[in-house]
Amino acid sequence: MKTLARNTRDRIEAVLASGSGDDRRPALRRGNESNVRGLYIIGDLAGAPVIKLAMAQGVEVVDFISKLPEMKTPAEGDMLDVIVVGAGAAGLNAALAAHEHGYRHVVLEKGKIANTIENFPEGKWVYAEPDDTPPKGKLWLDGATKEDLVARWQHIVNDHGLDVRTEEPLTSLKRRRDVTFDITTPNGQYRARKMVLATGQRGNPRLLGVPGEDLERVYHRLYSPTKYHDEDILVVGGGNSAVEAALTLSQRNRIVLSYRGGEFSRLFKDNRQQLDRAIAGKRIEVMLNSTVTEFRSGSVTVSIDRGGHQDTREVPADHAFVLIGAELPVKFLKSLGIRLENEWTGTPLRALGLTALLLISMWFVGVLFGGPAPLGLELGRAAGWSGAGLAVLALAALIVTGCRNDRWAWLGVSFFVWYSIYGIKVGGGTEFWPYRGWGYESMSFFDRPWAFWYTVLYTTLMTVFGLRALKRWGLDRKDRFQMWRFASLISFQWLFFFLIPEFLFQLALKYQWVGEALANDPQFADQAWRSYGLIYAWPLFFYTFLYDPHLIWVVWGVLLTFVIIPVFVLFNGKRYCSWICGCGGLAETFGDRWRHLAPKGRASTRWEWMNMVVLIAAAVITLLMLGRDVVGLMRTADLGMWGYRIVADVWLVGILPVTVYPFMGGKVWCRYWCPLAKMMGMFSKLYVKLGISRFHIVANDKCIACNECSRNCQVGIDVMQFALKQETLDNATTSCIGCGICVTVCPMDVLSYSTDGDLHLPLLGAVPSTP
Ligand SMILES: Cc1cc2nc3c(=O)[nH]c(=O)nc-3n(C[C@H](O)[C@H](O)[C@H](O)COP(=O)(O)OP(=O)(O)OC[C@H]3O[C@@H](n4cnc5c(N)ncnc54)[C@H](O)[C@@H]3O)c2cc1C
Ligand code: SF4
Ligand code: SF4
Repeated sequence: MKTLARNTRDRIEAVLASGSGDDRRPALRRGNESNVRGLYIIGDLAGAPVIKLAMAQGVEVVDFISKLPEMKTPAEGDMLDVIVVGAGAAGLNAALAAHEHGYRHVVLEKGKIANTIENFPEGKWVYAEPDDTPPKGKLWLDGATKEDLVARWQHIVNDHGLDVRTEEPLTSLKRRRDVTFDITTPNGQYRARKMVLATGQRGNPRLLGVPGEDLERVYHRLYSPTKYHDEDILVVGGGNSAVEAALTLSQRNRIVLSYRGGEFSRLFKDNRQQLDRAIAGKRIEVMLNSTVTEFRSGSVTVSIDRGGHQDTREVPADHAFVLIGAELPVKFLKSLGIRLENEWTGTPLRALGLTALLLISMWFVGVLFGGPAPLGLELGRAAGWSGAGLAVLALAALIVTGCRNDRWAWLGVSFFVWYSIYGIKVGGGTEFWPYRGWGYESMSFFDRPWAFWYTVLYTTLMTVFGLRALKRWGLDRKDRFQMWRFASLISFQWLFFFLIPEFLFQLALKYQWVGEALANDPQFADQAWRSYGLIYAWPLFFYTFLYDPHLIWVVWGVLLTFVIIPVFVLFNGKRYCSWICGCGGLAETFGDRWRHLAPKGRASTRWEWMNMVVLIAAAVITLLMLGRDVVGLMRTADLGMWGYRIVADVWLVGILPVTVYPFMGGKVWCRYWCPLAKMMGMFSKLYVKLGISRFHIVANDKCIACNECSRNCQVGIDVMQFALKQETLDNATTSCIGCGICVTVCPMDVLSYSTDGDLHLPLLGAVPSTP
């Protein structure tokens, strides 16, 4: 039983955490501050993919710190203002910025100055990408050999008199109540007001974890390739570092390259071509689908998967290089009390119990609002007030445990909020338990029903968070595409999903803007809710053809679904989801801060079959409803209708996806369940196959494999794979919604819409994809 519970929990956690994949990072908030107040994390450790961007973070973090009120007065006694840990690109630039601000500071470095770069292979050329971004701060950066770069940095450190304590690693850390730090190293103790952690992750190479990996001739980095001559060498790995090492070593040695994958999918185009040439010239032997099982002296045992059965081979190897990337130093970070992003810590059963208690308490609260007493008991107001007290306690317990790092508790809070909002919105008298019979009424204020206030809430969330997203992606990055996009989402919400259905429709009737006949036709006038169908096409707006619509709505519905949308898709793919739709709009705005948590990986893409099921269900039920009187399947049609309403319209579009925004990003509905998204995807795929689609994203050859594009894609597409191989990304193979965030976020300007892929809007013409 216990095993079953643990397995179930592990599976659920795996699904919930699938957004992070291999890309684990510390959880950071504004100014790169970690959960440990006063401790900031920058550089490689915080996801800066290249030296220039790591340097920029060094400057930015000190600027941020300098604006804090407590930093306006100087530190007293032996207290340092800032202690920087790690003398790499990020740490040195932070120390230089601290020096400029006049802060008392020390840099702790466990090795030498610029240790990571010092450890690059001899003579390696260090690129100063992105080309068109000038380096920030006092540290020098230009294309140079690693030796020249390190020498330059040494000079800068000396010229500025930076206090860098080399060979002195940070070993432990204690935070005092007054939010200052006691820092311990093997050489002594320090006290500091702020701490900047810039320790990178290169010092923590990923290991295979097999016997013999600690042998003398097994290495996890290549320092001097010229040292090896006429030897048998095994290189393990399928990324650029492994392939570059294999290519360099193959000039004077016999190389076997072992990779666990079935193909090299993450290589720079140039590396791919060189590798193909080396394989053709028999300079490198590649073993795909292979796993090292043991290192021995003079050989390595490798197991090869040959389509189901395993072969074992003994590969002669004088040396072995395991170059399978670096890992986040989790143990080290944990020892400092730092939390990681998307970590499923906590107790699911406790969260479940408290959430259930909260809902049961609300059942009793209903008595105060004239709702039916639980289980038909005779209860007075005292029971209602007790319920309210218990509800407050249960909610407080969830929030307190959540603040103590119980992620399950936050899931409970999120579920409670959205279940209540949607469970009440289903309508007076049909509300979900425990709100049945009192929820809708009690949430209707100022002569307006809860459905109206729900729309107000929705529009407010979209406006507030939409403006924030507009600033984040548009204004701050001077990206016109994103400015237009968020302006469009907010405007569609205001006009078509708020003002028209709630106010303008009635005004149009009153002042007869729609003509006298229509304004006086009850079949039209009494169905203001149909105005949602102006923009929402069937099958998203499922009811467009049902419940006795006026002919004008039927004509418009057919035109929208089967003419306008298909033509829009031809030019813009599924951009309806990221420019127009209110469901996608809430995800893009309110859900924006969690976009990097979208489920990723092959399994998550396979789950996309679900929206086909919803599309088929929508089509079948629509046909049944339209023909219910004709074919006599009334009961089946009504049952289907009832089921679709509850399952799709409430749970799949409302409660579940919004509940998981903070845990799986905002696009769960759009990606997995929306039938309109599926239909647009099918049109778009067809256009690609016919060669007439005008929507696609292309890549140039400058990708540095930083993963930022994949990390920020709300629909979990591994954009980097397309970029590295310079393959076209379209809807033939992905469910891309054309939000352009991957284009915006790329530090190397690798991605773009080709000219014929610019956004085509009737009034604006083509909106260029690049700033
Ligand atoms: C093979 C390879 C090639 C690359 N080529 C390029 C390139 O050409 N151009 C480019 O822009 N980027 C390149 N990069 C990426 C680049 O190295 C990183 O982006 C950059 O080094 C990150 O800087 P950082 O300061 O965050 O971390 P790092 O440079 O890794 O610095 C971290 C420092 O912290 C120290 N440290 C670690 N733990 C402790 C501790 N407990 N106490 C004290 N100090 C500690 C380390 O010794 C190190 O000096 C390459 C990376 C690799 C692996
Ligand atoms: S691939 Fe890019 S444009 Fe497409 S959905 Fe993902 S981030 Fe948006
Ligand atoms: S395409 Fe993606 S992985 Fe490549 S540099 Fe740009 S953001 Fe990084």
